Amino acid sequence: MAKFKRILLKLSGESLMGELGYGIDVKRLNEYAAQIKEVAEMGVQIGIVIGGGNIFRGLTGAGKGFDRVKGDQMGMMATVINSLALSSALGAVNVPNKVLTAIRMEPVGEFYTKWKAIEAMEQGMVVIMAAGTGSPYFTTDTGSSLRGIEIEADVMLKGTRVDGIYTADPEKDPTATKFNDISYDEVISRGLKVMDITATAMCRENNLPIYVFNMDVFGNLKRVMAGEEIGTYVHL
Ligand code: UDP
Repeated sequence: MAKFKRILLKLSGESLMGELGYGIDVKRLNEYAAQIKEVAEMGVQIGIVIGGGNIFRGLTGAGKGFDRVKGDQMGMMATVINSLALSSALGAVNVPNKVLTAIRMEPVGEFYTKWKAIEAMEQGMVVIMAAGTGSPYFTTDTGSSLRGIEIEADVMLKGTRVDGIYTADPEKDPTATKFNDISYDEVISRGLKVMDITATAMCRENNLPIYVFNMDVFGNLKRVMAGEEIGTYVHL
């Protein structure tokens, strides 16, 4: 039995570039697809939001002189590219799936509505929700909080390259220690860089728990669904 019935899985664009400095690492992409397949086969309803940081970030663009809104729109297009890549990889391993986009762009994907997403999940499809929130000045973390709340997910699973939330960045500070669980308020008051404040606050206000875990270790998504405590749980 899976621990959760319906999940919102957030994948970072940055993780998707794997060993490469930019773009999509096909090995990492296929590993993600295989992990998602394992969980889909457990009967879990899966919604996915994927970032675009491996291709373009609006804020970085603005730092180089791009108009911020156009830069953010480029970032949202980057999430669409990643979503199509994941859709293709899932299709290749026979996982039925559908891409919905927050910005109209048929025939690339159907225009997102909550009901289309839920209907597709109930029919056994993995639903990939692309283009973030559709609005500039947001991140895909906020996009995934929003979609997680809308689709009434039991949890938002945030796949990262570290195995949870630490007191400091474990890649920089060797004395950092890991939390097994933590409140939304503490994440915000300690300024922990797990998600931006907007995303964390939205989850808090709507009581959507977050589970942060290392998605780059093969099999971890299934371990989380089997109830193994390998990450950090964020709750009220
Ligand atoms: N973005 C946006 N609105 C959204 C979601 C994303 O404008 O609702 C843009 C923003 O420029 C962001 C980029 O898309 O930098 C890529 O998303 P993000 O940085 O969240 O990707 P990740 O860090 O997960 O790879």
